Amino acid sequence: MKAVYVKEPHSLEIVELPEPAAGRGEVLVRVRAAGICGSDMHIYHGTNPLAKYPRIIGHEFAGEILALGEGVQGLSVGDRVAVDPVTSCGTCYPCSIGRHNVCAKLGVFGVHRDGGMVERVAVPAVNAHLVPKDWAWEKAALVEPFSIAANVLSRAQCTEKDRVLVMGAGPIGLTVLMGAVLTGARVAVADVLDSRLDVAKKLGAERAVNSGSLNLEEEMTRWTGGDGVPLIVDAVCNPALFPSLLRMASPAGRVAHLGFSETPSPVVPLDITKKELTIVGSRLNCNMFPRVIEWFGRGLPAEKLISHTFPLSQAREAFKLVEEKPLETCKVLLTFPD
Ligand code: MN
Repeated sequence: MKAVYVKEPHSLEIVELPEPAAGRGEVLVRVRAAGICGSDMHIYHGTNPLAKYPRIIGHEFAGEILALGEGVQGLSVGDRVAVDPVTSCGTCYPCSIGRHNVCAKLGVFGVHRDGGMVERVAVPAVNAHLVPKDWAWEKAALVEPFSIAANVLSRAQCTEKDRVLVMGAGPIGLTVLMGAVLTGARVAVADVLDSRLDVAKKLGAERAVNSGSLNLEEEMTRWTGGDGVPLIVDAVCNPALFPSLLRMASPAGRVAHLGFSETPSPVVPLDITKKELTIVGSRLNCNMFPRVIEWFGRGLPAEKLISHTFPLSQAREAFKLVEEKPLETCKVLLTFPD
């Protein structure tokens, strides 16, 4: 079977590998669609400090069950599933309080262990979430990227009463926008590219602010009548902007952070204390697949995120496109033809 294989940084190939089998508690999945994510690009280029090589990449994937391992119940051959890429030990402190996405021994498909850009893969049955048979495979492969949005909105307790500022209108910012809109919140989006802001408007942003040409803090003061923004989700993750997020937040507001930057940020502690801000990090997802599948069922237009699809055989071309045309691509998917 064929797999997208990063042998070492800067070396991406389609290779022939032996067939896997479903072990105890696992299901064998025939992958039908897999998304390319920024983090796949980082693994490809050797800029993900967590990745180990060689690696079959891909953590955004869906397919059909080909076989059940011993002891698997509640799933059947032929079922269509989206695969949650997060695996955990179940016994460490975060696992013990239900926060297994920050497990001390976290194992993510396509990062710490071989992933889903492969024709067939064995995954724990508990990671395989049923999706309706009438969904396109591409849509099923989008459950994972939207689980990032569901997790951050859950961590920040987004409700229909919120005004939300989403920093960044790249793929992740747009998933957060769509999730917040579906929740009933009023959403503003900031980016420096008008083309992305146009997409954000079409997806339901009430305000789309070019923060390169306008003063975002003034715009948010105006938008909220001077109250400040109750919920800010940072999907840009420029550490230099973080102090501004704290200034824009309303009293009792929440600031949620998604980035992996190691660059320090000059935060003013007074901004946190005097407004009693809640600052949360959000990583991957914690049991959010059912919520996202429900979102899609309620009509969240996930497929609008897709800009291109390529068959597996053209994986190198797909990665090249994402790399060379970041402004013309949004979510790029690999499909696995019969
Ligand atoms: Mn991803």
